[in-house]
Amino acid sequence: MLLRARIVVPISQPPIADGFVRVDGNYIIEVGAWADVKNKSEAVDLGEVILLPGLVNAHCHLDYTDFVGAVPTPRSFTDWINAIVDLKADVDDAAHRESWLHGAAQCLRHGTTTLGNIETRPDFLPELWAATPLRLVSFLELIVIRAQSDAAQAVADATDWIASHKPPSGHAGLSPHAPYTTKPDLLEACAATDLPMAMHLAESAEEDEMFRQGSGPLYERLAAAGREMADCGRGSPIAHANRSGLLSENLIAIHGNYLDDDDIRLLAENHVSLVHCPRSHAYFGHAPFRAEALRTAGVNLCLGTDSLATMRAGDAELSLFEELRAYCEAFPDLADLETLLQCVTVNPARALGMAGQVGELAVDAFADLMTLPFDGPIEFAMKAIVNHAGPAQRVMLYGKWEVSCEND
Ligand SMILES: [Zn+2]
Repeated sequence: MLLRARIVVPISQPPIADGFVRVDGNYIIEVGAWADVKNKSEAVDLGEVILLPGLVNAHCHLDYTDFVGAVPTPRSFTDWINAIVDLKADVDDAAHRESWLHGAAQCLRHGTTTLGNIETRPDFLPELWAATPLRLVSFLELIVIRAQSDAAQAVADATDWIASHKPPSGHAGLSPHAPYTTKPDLLEACAATDLPMAMHLAESAEEDEMFRQGSGPLYERLAAAGREMADCGRGSPIAHANRSGLLSENLIAIHGNYLDDDDIRLLAENHVSLVHCPRSHAYFGHAPFRAEALRTAGVNLCLGTDSLATMRAGDAELSLFEELRAYCEAFPDLADLETLLQCVTVNPARALGMAGQVGELAVDAFADLMTLPFDGPIEFAMKAIVNHAGPAQRVMLYGKWEVSCEND
């Protein structure tokens, strides 16, 4: 299949005016300028569009999609946790599956083709994986709070499950949920597996207080729930994860809203990727995100959606374009378009262990791509992508068009 477009934005190389992408089966086999195409038979002219790779979202909770607008902005992070625990108690199996699939469809419609998702129900995953063309890295959530719970067994069970289950395209990993919902022995057991991991880290002021000071509302809530609190009052959540041997290139740190210079140094030195979720950050009104310091330190920075349970707008959808918009609003001076687009393409591809396979239009990458309407000059193409609102025009996965808004 030979696709011609007004502008091709490969991400891993500069935009190409009147460009083409040649697809063979699931893969891209050629990218370049139309004038250089040797065999032009069976070409499809996509017309006045930008052709770019499908976006890569490194952090999401698909099963919370139908919670959109259900939790009004809470007074504190601890209040939000209480609200979400209540909401989850009312979700039956069918509603869980439906919500997950609604989220997957939203991601695709908005041009996301690869997703790192936190999974709470592995028993449903084979069925859900088969029901979406989305490329997935499914992180199995682990929450082990009580001192007497067997953390090593929980990790062994998850590891066994992963060894015998795999999405049609992608892979599975572990998500020790957060420092406050896990125990050090669970984190140590996770670190010993060598599996891909994603963990909420340094998300809230309450979490920061719990670990640095050994006090505060989250500390009180977890102590009351039977958590052994001897690991608190010993430094930041990042230092806590580091003590358990968790910081490595296998780890995606989710949020990182409360980081000091030592934390940023630890993340950079250990090649940990970090996912910032701009709309979730705005919803909670967290301290300013340290984007510039992270970038300067060389941390692999990604943008993610988190879930729709942390969005202000009741009609919000899972869209990385909306995250880009929120990020640009928070950091109007970070106008380097190339760096911005890397945060939703090649950076999360690397974080998910899929560098060179997704997030770019390159030889041997998967044929996951999308088109956005565009009739302007090439120098405005990157800006048009960053400013895009609404669904993508067309979305291809595995060399097959899966979404076409023109036909809706
Ligand atoms: Zn999350």
